Amino acid sequence: MLTSICGINWGDEGKGRMVDLLSRDYDIVCRYQGGNNAGHTVINERGKFVLNLLPSGILRENVVNVLGLGMVIDIRHLTEEANRLRAQGIKITPENLKISDRATITMPYHVLLDCLEEDRLAGKKFGSTRRGIAPAYADRYMKKAFRMGELLDPDRMYEKAKDIAEWKNLTVAGGYRHAAVTAEEIVEYLKTYGEPLKDYICDVGQYLNEAHAAGKKIMFEAQLGALRDVDFGILPYTSSSSTIAAYAPIGAGVPNLRLDKSIGIMKAYSSCVGEGPFTAEYFGEKAVKLRELGGEYGAATGRPRRVGPFDAVASRYGIRCQAADEIALTKLDILSGYEEIEICTAYELDGKVIREFPYPDALDRCKPVFEKVKGWNCDISSCRKPSDLPKEALGYIALLEELCACNIVYVSVGAERDAFVKMK
Ligand code: GDP
Repeated sequence: MLTSICGINWGDEGKGRMVDLLSRDYDIVCRYQGGNNAGHTVINERGKFVLNLLPSGILRENVVNVLGLGMVIDIRHLTEEANRLRAQGIKITPENLKISDRATITMPYHVLLDCLEEDRLAGKKFGSTRRGIAPAYADRYMKKAFRMGELLDPDRMYEKAKDIAEWKNLTVAGGYRHAAVTAEEIVEYLKTYGEPLKDYICDVGQYLNEAHAAGKKIMFEAQLGALRDVDFGILPYTSSSSTIAAYAPIGAGVPNLRLDKSIGIMKAYSSCVGEGPFTAEYFGEKAVKLRELGGEYGAATGRPRRVGPFDAVASRYGIRCQAADEIALTKLDILSGYEEIEICTAYELDGKVIREFPYPDALDRCKPVFEKVKGWNCDISSCRKPSDLPKEALGYIALLEELCACNIVYVSVGAERDAFVKMK
């Protein structure tokens, strides 16, 4: 059984929270793309955890976690994140964490280049999280990145590090006029943070294939949503990797296996971190109210998130990109404080009403078309079955299903593990 859990929107839909819940039925949770540029916040009976690189399954004792080849891994960040979780009582050993030997390593010079370029762009910046993700992926495609497997053979590192330093300094020192990168510091870094990870690095494709053949259930966990996908998202304000469900088996290291199910995580309203077009955006008091109600501040960066009502145009597109068979609708409880709830049902582009998500460049010219529905205006956080939900909340869920032609199976009404309603 192979299931992917993906974001339908701009990220921060609550994927970590849903993986934490749904992973009870799985043996393996696997990250397949991205790096430490995003964060999942998970609250369960063991405490509150922020995960940047580790799959959310790490919080379950009997789940094996995999970092797939589609990821870019900052080995210093991984070491610190694992130690932070260990200090919170979480077990992390080579038995429950396996790292792909083919995954790319995010180096300090990638972080440096990310920052130098964002600073150069200044007012035109892409809104990078400055964690070196785009430069690391760029080097991967230039075939000049270090991969995790190279940490197993430190004797070969120096020769490559010399070549990489020479090449990097054409931009770091030559272009940006920053202090040069040295081969010695590259090797020192790789040895310092690589040595303790050696026992975790393996051919995860082989591991996953064997596990699959043995009947184990595997879940793929995405970081970021469809609209941040490097191909299907709002380029250039996207991540640098494929956040799409169809990429999950490849990014995990098992291109021979097919997904059985795609579960899309969709938020009951919209939020977006950083720059880029965000058509249904609220401003002023409306934005402050929703941001505060939803606690919309980035888990990785603490940045206040931009917010708006549910966007049916973007969400329908996200559902299509993720081929979502089932939807988990999150944060419905946040809308409890509204007498009336707005929904963006269409965009107006150059005087025409459109319902299909346009080519990203046209988004700057799109205006939201809002419609209002009656809210429920009462606390729903203790609802646990459909009949507990007020009829207006049920109506809101049904309307989203209709607008997006989707199948909402789970509704989350709180951040805690058991705060959800199974609808079907
Ligand atoms: P992710 O990156 O998609 O996992 O999302 P984030 O962790 O960045 O953001 C989701 C935030 O909402 C986290 O702080 C969760 O604890 C919280 N959360 C998730 N689902 C719900 C929900 O249904 N209700 C409430 N109130 N909070 C939720």
